[in-house]
Amino acid sequence: MPLIDLRSDTVTRPTPEMRRVIANAEVGDDVLGDDPTVIRLQERTAELLGKEAAVFVPSGSMANQTAIRAHCEPGDEILCHKDSHIIHYETGGPAALSGVMIRPIEGASGLFSADDLDPLVRPESSHFARSRLVIVENTHNRGGGSVWPLDQLRRVCERSRKFSLKLHLDGARVWNACAATGLKPSDYAQHFDTVSCCFSKGLGAPAGSAVAGDKATITRVHRFRKMFGGTMRQSGILAAAALYALDHHRDRLVEDHANATRLARGLAEIPGLTVDLAAVQTNMVFIDVHDSTAMTAPQLCEKLKAHNLLALPNTPRRVRLVCHLDVTTPMIDEAIRIIAQAVTGKQATRTPVAV
Ligand SMILES: *Cc1c(COP(=O)(O)O)cnc(C)c1O
Repeated sequence: MPLIDLRSDTVTRPTPEMRRVIANAEVGDDVLGDDPTVIRLQERTAELLGKEAAVFVPSGSMANQTAIRAHCEPGDEILCHKDSHIIHYETGGPAALSGVMIRPIEGASGLFSADDLDPLVRPESSHFARSRLVIVENTHNRGGGSVWPLDQLRRVCERSRKFSLKLHLDGARVWNACAATGLKPSDYAQHFDTVSCCFSKGLGAPAGSAVAGDKATITRVHRFRKMFGGTMRQSGILAAAALYALDHHRDRLVEDHANATRLARGLAEIPGLTVDLAAVQTNMVFIDVHDSTAMTAPQLCEKLKAHNLLALPNTPRRVRLVCHLDVTTPMIDEAIRIIAQAVTGKQATRTPVAV
């Protein structure tokens, strides 16, 4: 069995067909604005998200950070869930690059409600930071890959508008939300001023994200992309992979979700582990490692690595497993067997239930 890499959906390698498309990509100089493939990707992304314009950026972090900078001035305040990617995994970017403060919002699974905003939005006053921007993450990574119910999301956005706040969707995995619900990307995006989306996670492109929004805002994002060092030249090489991924790898995300459910059901049978099956909504599975196993989450991951299975600890007692393009269903069954053996010291006797 080859290496089974469940660390993240970012570990996917370009498929042979994607590599062929990359090799044949028509390119130009995107800093001078004439890379035709980048232009095509930006137009297609804007269209999918129902926005006037989009700009291609090297990473999801840059997508979020340029959007934040486009909406905010130093001294402004952002409201977002306390577990959001921009708080935990973007190196303090909002403080460093935009000079903004963050007001974290509580809530289960990375979600919150319109009413949660009321006490957190600051009234206009010469004493207070200016509440400026609300950010929603869908699907929510630390929330377990959770999907925002469209009604709840719409109400959050309506309430934000009432307070004259701007709205950004961190849609790094918006494609997974769409695969899970059957909704269109624009169904989510229509409620926001800007949306970021990622091509290099579940979609399997080697690099790249985009920010979409109205023309004026995207012109600002474009300027900050340059300022933050994110302009690229013959980036049509990467845009070609992203275009290919949009066309060929979105529909198949449901396979990753089915694999995640299969994995979760198999792991839930193992004594010493807890898996919240109801929380498995997309391509991620979180397992809680009990004291009874005499292992912490990092120790379990070390043990799995020795058996060619890669996973990352999320907290001292929690492991995250992510399904993606390079993970097949037989690999899922093998992963369950390896984890069962690592945790109980015995071979799994039950065959995993089919889904
Ligand atoms: C991965 C991710 C990003 C951006 O990540 P990069 O590694 O900078 O591309 C942003 N938001 C969420 C929710 C993510 O999962």
